[in-house]
Amino acid sequence: MSEQPAREQPALLDRLERPLRDLRISVTDRCNFRCPYCMPAEVFGRDFAFLPRSLVLTNEEIARLAGIAVELGVHKLRITGGEPLVRRDLPVLIGYLSRLRTPNGGRIDLTLTTNGSALKALARPLADAGLQRITVSLDSLDDAVFSAMNGVDFPVSRVLDGIAAARDAGLAPIKVNTVVRRGMNEASILPLARWARDEALTLRFIEYMDVGHSNGWRMDDVVSASEILAAIDAELPLEPLAPGYRGEVAGRHRYRDGSGEIGVIASVTRPFCADCTRARLSADGHLYTCLFAVTGTDLKTPLRAGESDAQLAARIRDIWSTRADRYSELRSEATERLPKVEMFALGG
Ligand code: SAM
Repeated sequence: MSEQPAREQPALLDRLERPLRDLRISVTDRCNFRCPYCMPAEVFGRDFAFLPRSLVLTNEEIARLAGIAVELGVHKLRITGGEPLVRRDLPVLIGYLSRLRTPNGGRIDLTLTTNGSALKALARPLADAGLQRITVSLDSLDDAVFSAMNGVDFPVSRVLDGIAAARDAGLAPIKVNTVVRRGMNEASILPLARWARDEALTLRFIEYMDVGHSNGWRMDDVVSASEILAAIDAELPLEPLAPGYRGEVAGRHRYRDGSGEIGVIASVTRPFCADCTRARLSADGHLYTCLFAVTGTDLKTPLRAGESDAQLAARIRDIWSTRADRYSELRSEATERLPKVEMFALGG
């Protein structure tokens, strides 16, 4: 399916002329994994206070805000978290979102990012509810490495079962996201590349990022996209592909023998802020315009106070049209220390 609508409507532009096209919706701040690069167990332990249910948007509230965003030009919705599959009634929300249409009647691109742990049971109900495709995060095929990366000893085999269930349910394409962190999973790059190619999965390697302020990020821990590509190219020769559409975050490369492609998301070494068309809605109804934001704008309070769709749309228009952030292009020692909102809270 094309990532662009059939006919473009006049876009809502920010101060750097970037259109609002994508909305990432965090449906929960909770997760059953404790990946040290995102939600380290020593910081987010048993007594950590996640959002109480009363502060989390209901399915109806999420669908209403998403519908308003679609009216403003959003044509791609990605459900995320936290771990979205830990939210009860997720298929009901997917059902609501799958019925949304762009102003010129086009279907929206509806997808979801998950750690895959509960996908075996949920792939079919999600597909039946209207989910079209899916991204599964998987950092290694080696159980010892994967355990260290997920922080809860979760076995690889159960994620693979989830991927198989997604395939059986007709979700396509299935993408796999792999964060690469130096000293942890560089040795997993090639086995993952070979496996994804053999299984016809779209693999994306992600540079380890300084999201939030709890993961102890250091530049030295980043394995650059160039290093990742060089490691693969040495065994499985690659050539670059042109981007599929404006704002595509993955730099795509295909195997020279025509056996498939991989992508690298180089948000640290090759920032793509100039093409960022994404807003993020947190589980508690705050809108963020940057993954590295320190603050967001509360939409839940006016929503629950009874504002009309037109009033809420005006708020979103204001937020987007005054947006000028470009964190990754400005990344420096000074920005690293900012009290950034955690990725699991604002939606990965
Ligand atoms: N729980 C879901 C999952 O695992 O895909 C969705 C949320 S998770 C925050 C979304 C993605 O962000 C995952 O692929 C995860 O690996 C990635 N991620 C989290 N922290 C990261 C970091 N510090 N650097 C790069 N990617 C990160």
